[in-house]
Amino acid sequence: MAQDPMEVGEMQEQEVREVSDTSRSRWLDAAKRVLAGERDNLLCPEHGDDNLLVQWIPFESETGGEYWLHCPCCGAQNFILKRMNEGENGALVKDV
Ligand SMILES: [Zn+2]
Repeated sequence: MAQDPMEVGEMQEQEVREVSDTSRSRWLDAAKRVLAGERDNLLCPEHGDDNLLVQWIPFESETGGEYWLHCPCCGAQNFILKRMNEGENGALVKDV
């Protein structure tokens, strides 16, 4: 048997994409601004072609949630994980 049975069940599709250090630092900067309460004038970190849209997605099973940042123009997106019990410093940016 050459197939690995552990591959079954993971439905999440992962797109492999290179993220430059520059765009990563821009994502982090946008994340800090979102956590500070900003929702407007968040320029797309990838191409600067439009402002990011921000949507809060609460977790059902634990305290916290994540912000979904996405560019309506080029489709660039990222998520900011936020755990309420860790305060503002509990936010983590995860690359998509
Ligand atoms: Zn964009």
